Amino acid sequence: MKFNDSIKNIKGIGPQKFKEFLKLNIENIEDLLYYFPRSYEDRTRINSLAESKDQDNSGFVVKVKKIYKDRFIKGKKLIITKALIEDENSIGEAIWFNKPFIKKSLIVGRNYYLYGKVKRNHNMIQIISPDYKLLDNLSFIEQGIIPIYKLTSKLYQKEFRKFINTALKETNSSIVDYLPLELREKYNLCDIKFAIKNIHFPKDYNSYKIAKERLIFDEFFLLQMALKLIKKNNIEKSKGYIFNKFSEVGEFIEKLPFKLTKAQSNVINEIIEDFKSGKPMNRLIQGDVGSGKTIIATIALLIASLNGYQGAMMAPTEILANQHYSSLSKLFQGFNINLCLLTGNMSQQQKKEIIKEISQGKINIVVGTHAIIQKNIQFYNLGLVITDEQHRFGVNQRALLSNKGDNPHIMIMTATPIPRTLAHILYGDLDISIIDELPPGRKPIGTYHISSNLENRLFGFVKEHINSGRQAYIICPLVEESNNIKAESVIELKKYLKNKYFTNEKIAIIHGRLNNNDKDLIMQQFKDGLIDILVSTTIIEVGINVPNANIMVIYNAERFGLAQLHQLRGRVGRGPFKSYCFLLSDNKNKITQERMKIITNTNNGFIIAENDLTLRGPGEILGIRQHGLPELKIGNIISDTEIIQKAKKVCEDVIKSKKFNSIEKHIEKKFLQEINNICLN
Ligand code: ADP
Ligand code: MG
Repeated sequence: MKFNDSIKNIKGIGPQKFKEFLKLNIENIEDLLYYFPRSYEDRTRINSLAESKDQDNSGFVVKVKKIYKDRFIKGKKLIITKALIEDENSIGEAIWFNKPFIKKSLIVGRNYYLYGKVKRNHNMIQIISPDYKLLDNLSFIEQGIIPIYKLTSKLYQKEFRKFINTALKETNSSIVDYLPLELREKYNLCDIKFAIKNIHFPKDYNSYKIAKERLIFDEFFLLQMALKLIKKNNIEKSKGYIFNKFSEVGEFIEKLPFKLTKAQSNVINEIIEDFKSGKPMNRLIQGDVGSGKTIIATIALLIASLNGYQGAMMAPTEILANQHYSSLSKLFQGFNINLCLLTGNMSQQQKKEIIKEISQGKINIVVGTHAIIQKNIQFYNLGLVITDEQHRFGVNQRALLSNKGDNPHIMIMTATPIPRTLAHILYGDLDISIIDELPPGRKPIGTYHISSNLENRLFGFVKEHINSGRQAYIICPLVEESNNIKAESVIELKKYLKNKYFTNEKIAIIHGRLNNNDKDLIMQQFKDGLIDILVSTTIIEVGINVPNANIMVIYNAERFGLAQLHQLRGRVGRGPFKSYCFLLSDNKNKITQERMKIITNTNNGFIIAENDLTLRGPGEILGIRQHGLPELKIGNIISDTEIIQKAKKVCEDVIKSKKFNSIEKHIEKKFLQEINNICLN
């Protein structure tokens, strides 16, 4: 049998069973062998009935003394089979449900090995639904560590083990390790045959560990290699526009009201290298909240324009698109750039006009929401596409954007930074730039976790700051229900605050249900200082920049994820004023306490992301980006860092040396479909 043979070739798997296997995504032998156990039971030890503990899973060697008549419980459609059993010191019962056939196969007077859950009730010891095995003579006992799989209700552990065993035996001679001995020896990895066998039926704990390491290694190695190949394909297949006119860039930077940080300059240089390379840029810019990504995007757009190409910048919300539009308008003053805004809610007439000008090349730079990637929009010569706060855009949307031009340069900016190792796995097909420095003079945002009985004092403090000219955000509790309810809770909260604390201050609300003109108006008024307090949903979460606002209060902070709290908090601390973030929460839950401690202790988004991952698990993060490659089955992005590093080193070895060409072939073959789907062109 070969890996890609159907499992129907295994004796015992007929059409009915096959259907069940399909539910587990198992079609061929390889799927079956790569269906790893969920847990194991150690059956190497034999317990005595007398010493067994309630609820333990244990193995026993017993003699069957008697088999009782089946009992039927009609209402519940239950058939109960019971046997009296005995070991050296005591007696007990084995009990099975809805398995009437057992009665026929058990033989009174013979010895059996039973393995099952113990239930102790007064003096009675019961073994519930045990697996059983006739012992021909006492010297033979089903030894070893037994795998337990996650199965459908119509598949049984015992038969599944048998199928795996068959598949192992039948494929034994055809499994060839794609990883050459040389690399296995260098990196201390076992051979794949050993790994597959021992992940199912480990000889002992050590073999299990060795096997597991190899399989985890494979997952990360293949993933990283596949991403590298995607990257290579993307770049090699296509020619990129060459931008080599930078004449006015220096002047532009000179005129800025601030000096670029070292980190910002470095990233700009990386981008310029990409522009000059003749290959399309595919770059992810990771930077913490407030690290100054917008200016980098602005400079990149300026360069595109100076070189006679159109640029586009896409933001996830209308508010953010508006904000970008207005700051770019200011920054481009005095430069010969025709900038426009394109969002979904503009009038048809306005849109039509703009779309026409985009297609004629009269417009140099478009800022907008996903309206930019609608079908009806044709660019004249799109040379650069930027998406801001990328976690809101899927890969497919990005591909769409890229297809609006002829291999334009692509830049993705994200404010949800993740640790570098992780970024390399999740975004391995992109080049990564990291802004690891905040503009100088930023004071850390004082973050405090307080309970609601301090509300009175808290708002006294907020009032003082408002009286001295500052502004505040108050974030409404996260409500899961519909937008309507969200809007309502914002309105309620505003009423409450107005009546109780802020009779004289100007309070406004903002939420997703408002129409876009109202949203814009309110944001503008807040920016202009006409509003003191903005009561808001998480709609202001990304990007909003009002440097005069220096206080944020978040109700029911425990309902937000850490990364989200960090994003929200990032709305303050953007100006010269000492800033504060108050997390209101009365929740005494231990994990909540832990999370509040993390966010109050650090202002570093990378550290927060790492902690968030450990607390919530990597599932969340993997959700950020579906790269279309297979999910990890056994590897864990958080806890397997050492193996990830090892996989990275092997990748480098393989790419450096022609000797290992066969590995690339293997991976190309394995992921051909996925790689083609992912490659943008
Ligand atoms: P983010 O990285 O979160 O998108 P922004 O680009 O919105 O951050 O920048 C945050 C604020 O910092 C803006 O007010 C911006 O003008 C300012 N800023 C950006 N770079 C610098 C710098 N080098 N020095 C001082 N202020 C800067
Ligand atoms: Mg931003």
